[in-house]
Amino acid sequence: TFDDGPNIRTTLPILETLNSNGAVATFFVLGNRVKQNKELVLRMIENGNEIGNHTYNHRLLTTISNEELNKQIDRTQNIISEVTGVEPVVMRPTYGAINNRLKENINMPIILWSVDTMDWKSKDAKAISKHILNNIKDGDIVLMHDIYLSTVDAVKIVIPELIKRGYQLVTVSELIKEKGASLQAGSVYRHYK
Ligand code: ZN
Repeated sequence: TFDDGPNIRTTLPILETLNSNGAVATFFVLGNRVKQNKELVLRMIENGNEIGNHTYNHRLLTTISNEELNKQIDRTQNIISEVTGVEPVVMRPTYGAINNRLKENINMPIILWSVDTMDWKSKDAKAISKHILNNIKDGDIVLMHDIYLSTVDAVKIVIPELIKRGYQLVTVSELIKEKGASLQAGSVYRHYK
């Protein structure tokens, strides 16, 4: 999974690497970045990727009112639907921050992760790829950000290697379905085994 994009300089090479390896991912995009990157989000869908909701402008959802919270989610749903014709069915809260109020008020499955690459912190392709390849197991959800060139480089290392090891890279929705479960609004998903 990739958060905080789309970004032309970094999302595009990630899309190309995914596509040339027959892999797909879920992109948790920011609503306010979608209109200026229409071609990128259309390409995500065309290539079989999934687009998830990562709020409109990266507000911390646990400290805003329910009204603001709904605005952050709905505005983003509407923009993505308008541009791609596909309404997201998964969301990822900013900073992975959740509470009971959030779970009760967000009418979508809440997707966290089981492998945290810390790519935003290290900005080091080798460290990112090493962390994934040393920790990955079946059913994991990997957190990365498609806004760093180091993440682009890490993806170029990791994706062919994971495929070589026999992994199938799928979207979050595909992962949950593949494992025989269903996505439920207000439920939190970190991985699937
Ligand atoms: Zn984020």
